Amino acid sequence: MTEELWDVVIVGGGPAGLTAGLYAARANLRSLLVEKLLPGGELLNTELIEDYPGFISTTGRELAEKMDEHARKFGLQIEQAAVEQIRREDGIFVLQTEDGAELRSRTVIMTAGGVPRKLEVPGEDEFAGRGVSYCAVCDGPLFRDKVVAVVGGGDSAFQEGIYLTRHASKVYIIHRRDEFRAQPILQDKARENPKIEFITSAAVDAIGGSQLVGWADVRSVRDGGLTRVPLDGVFVFIGFSPNSGLFEEHLEHDEQGFLFVSDRMETRVPGLYAAGDVRAQLARQITTAVGDATTAAIAAEHYLEDQAFQAERHRG
Ligand code: NAP
Repeated sequence: MTEELWDVVIVGGGPAGLTAGLYAARANLRSLLVEKLLPGGELLNTELIEDYPGFISTTGRELAEKMDEHARKFGLQIEQAAVEQIRREDGIFVLQTEDGAELRSRTVIMTAGGVPRKLEVPGEDEFAGRGVSYCAVCDGPLFRDKVVAVVGGGDSAFQEGIYLTRHASKVYIIHRRDEFRAQPILQDKARENPKIEFITSAAVDAIGGSQLVGWADVRSVRDGGLTRVPLDGVFVFIGFSPNSGLFEEHLEHDEQGFLFVSDRMETRVPGLYAAGDVRAQLARQITTAVGDATTAAIAAEHYLEDQAFQAERHRG
């Protein structure tokens, strides 16, 4: 992996990464995608997908497999590696991986998404993997006929809360306000579901139990009253923090770290692009991720053509 000079290295193998890879490979660019886990990204943590055009209802795993197969079919190379740092040396990007290897590329498209945000309350870390979870698809089946809580009021909390009713006997949705930012269709589905109970204007203060989670202390935001809710699991879906700090130089970002890019998905560094969940934007959907990534890959192609043209002119 070390000696080769790639045209495009894509960091992260979710829908944005796989789409950027598909477009780059189809443009005959020497393209490599590096993903620290399995290709698919957040899709692999999502059970049901009903808002990706052309697929009335599919699973995250199925869509991930199709995107992976599609990109590879057109020549995208995919390697399993964790990129730790990206720097520039003489106009070439050097990507350093966790195992000490270095990748060299003319352009980079960052599509590394983010990591789940934590509640940061007592008991959260202590009971991680023993009742506290950030992935309903991964851990939901462990809670058959159990009582669980989902924390959050966005699309993830609702989508995953609805999914958890397949396994759990009861699902609390605990949210700090009494209005939700989840899509109305998800809110309607949750309200119609007899297994879901809402605890609103409430914050989880602590999670506890003996060996496994046994309760959560829930504080009313209105009057400060504290209630100990008996339950077996707490699923935290309160957004995520972007993996936007890989590049050694400063890149413009919003207050949460999401990267600002141009309409070509380019950062302020020529040849360095960001697409999907890692960039600052209104909507974070699979559709917006694949759209961003298409733009980024085409912009990278144009950038490489311009560079080649300039080099040719310089020689002539
Ligand atoms: P999100 O939309 O950012 O929502 C996070 C939720 O957690 C908000 O309700 C927020 O409350 C709450 N929250 C944040 N920090 C908290 C804290 N410290 N303690 C308690 N609650 C806290 O995150 P998300 O639901 O993970 O979604 C991320 C993105 O992916 C969104 O753009 C979403 O639309 C997208 N997504 C789409 C789908 C889909 O079906 N199409 C599915 C999943 C995710 P406030 O509302 O009070 O701020």
